Amino acid sequence: MVLRAPGHPLEPAELPVPEPGLGQVRIDVTCCGVCRTDLHILDGELDQPKLPLVPGHQIVGTVSAAGDGADRYEIGDRIGVPWLGWTCGECRYCLSGRENLCDRARFTGYDIDGGYAEAAVADERFCFPVPEGFPDDQAAPLLCAGLIGYRALRLVGEAERIGFYGFGSSAHILCQLAVHEGRRVFAFTREGDTANQDFARELGAEWAGSSAETPPEELDGAIVFAADGSLMTAALRASAKGANVISAGIHMSDIPSFPYEQLWGERTLGSVANLTRRDGEEFLDLAPRVPVRTQVTTYELGDANRALDDLRAGRFSGAAVLLCR
Ligand SMILES: [Zn+2]
Ligand SMILES: [Zn+2]
Repeated sequence: MVLRAPGHPLEPAELPVPEPGLGQVRIDVTCCGVCRTDLHILDGELDQPKLPLVPGHQIVGTVSAAGDGADRYEIGDRIGVPWLGWTCGECRYCLSGRENLCDRARFTGYDIDGGYAEAAVADERFCFPVPEGFPDDQAAPLLCAGLIGYRALRLVGEAERIGFYGFGSSAHILCQLAVHEGRRVFAFTREGDTANQDFARELGAEWAGSSAETPPEELDGAIVFAADGSLMTAALRASAKGANVISAGIHMSDIPSFPYEQLWGERTLGSVANLTRRDGEEFLDLAPRVPVRTQVTTYELGDANRALDDLRAGRFSGAAVLLCR
């Protein structure tokens, strides 16, 4: 499924089977998770995709060919491909353990063709073995929703009472992890979305309500998953002294101005960007031990536009995953 220009639906296309280059493997894609970032690319809010582009950066499949120098995986190994597709290894960020901020980073399903396809190639150094115990479709959302959510959770710090603003693919995974870590979760959804509020409680949230509501207690930290900048200030107003409020999205509407006293008391507003390979290794080691259970709604590859529309409209709980073969 190919994006030819932002603002247009994806189109089915017959492309040549990609050949792995130096250090790359080819993956026969079984599943690819659908991410809100894919919507931002389709809508032109992230404005420099390669075009035409095969989107998709939560790829699960099996290795079917290896290029020169690629020897990390055997043919038939089950691997996952995340958003971070390549880094330079030599900029000040790469050299200080922050490859997520690499100046020249290339991203899967944005700079590099991704997994809305039957086959993809990827730099093997940026792929991960998929943990046992997760069927392919349930593993796919771990690769961005889980992994970048994990990085956001670490940036929030030791918060006991944690708020999740927007209870979608990422929050439904993080809720399980946070409860596992002994935190208390407060889940915020769109107004009237009682289905997702019930879903949050099922997954261990102590309280669930709409983002217009004030939670019953102050929050020690919050992650904002929805692309609405006013939720950053809502989360700040709900927060106790010392709270970190972290945006986990790659694009967000403007954050409204607010009085300094709401930030005073060592509260911070911050963002999480991308992932490091270390985040991936840590999270994929942790996920089976929680154990995280992902709830997925599956679509055939050719129905990618419908999956994206359903994501936009909030028509399912949990994550959407494309079945690619
Ligand atoms: Zn770099
Ligand atoms: Zn993503």
